[in-house]
Amino acid sequence: MIRVMNLPLSLFLPHRRITIIGIEMKNLPEARKTILRRLSELDLDIMSLMTNAALEKDSVYTVSVFIDSTDKDDATLNEVVQQLRQVKHVISVRAVSSDIPGVAVEQFHDEYHAFNMRILIFTERTLGGMLKGLYNTFGDKATPAFLFLIGTQTGREAARYYASIFSDKQTCLKIHELQAHAFGYCRWARIIMTAPDEYEIRFEGLTECEILRGFKTGHTSHWVRGVACGVFSELFGGEWDAIEIKCINAGDDSCVFKMRKKKATP
Ligand SMILES: [Zn+2]
Repeated sequence: MIRVMNLPLSLFLPHRRITIIGIEMKNLPEARKTILRRLSELDLDIMSLMTNAALEKDSVYTVSVFIDSTDKDDATLNEVVQQLRQVKHVISVRAVSSDIPGVAVEQFHDEYHAFNMRILIFTERTLGGMLKGLYNTFGDKATPAFLFLIGTQTGREAARYYASIFSDKQTCLKIHELQAHAFGYCRWARIIMTAPDEYEIRFEGLTECEILRGFKTGHTSHWVRGVACGVFSELFGGEWDAIEIKCINAGDDSCVFKMRKKKATP
């Protein structure tokens, strides 16, 4: 069974009114405990609750709570806001209900970060539009080459970042494997060393190939294959081949890349 994380950033629920309550507070364990207790005591239909990771002690801790406010009038919501403002260590509270019925878009946070970096989110529709648009515009020869090239540069950039934090190359590979899953490139990934200077990467549910299902056949990963090539080339030096030997669009169960360091030419 696939477990889906529905990020509470942008929701559409026709015929429902959704209100987002944004809370800023001191980043203290006591404050975090108190606000969660207070929220559970209030008569709220909480649909989702998103909190900032409590990383640095002096930072501001934030919580955004999505509530179904279909049956709540503005006076009741104001009362909720007033009560939350009374909680110790709370800096500010505001409640926003969308003017568009059934729509709730998180606007409390100005930036989203993961792994100490600012991130942006691509939906499969955005990525699909980009990939299919490239194929339709530039054709079957130029598009894979272009995707592989930008993937390679992206992979090199990622590997430089991993290497700036971790000195061990195998740890960098493990981080890449975990990030591929956590950032939605696939449902899971495994990187296995098969011989010296030779690895295999297995992806379950590789997003790039799933998006192209029914649109392209054969071995269809060029962007993520380029990313893998860039990561290995940057981490281990030299130039690496990244060949997709299995693909869901060629009838296989999963997508598998064979990574091999190219022999240096004398
Ligand atoms: Zn594939």
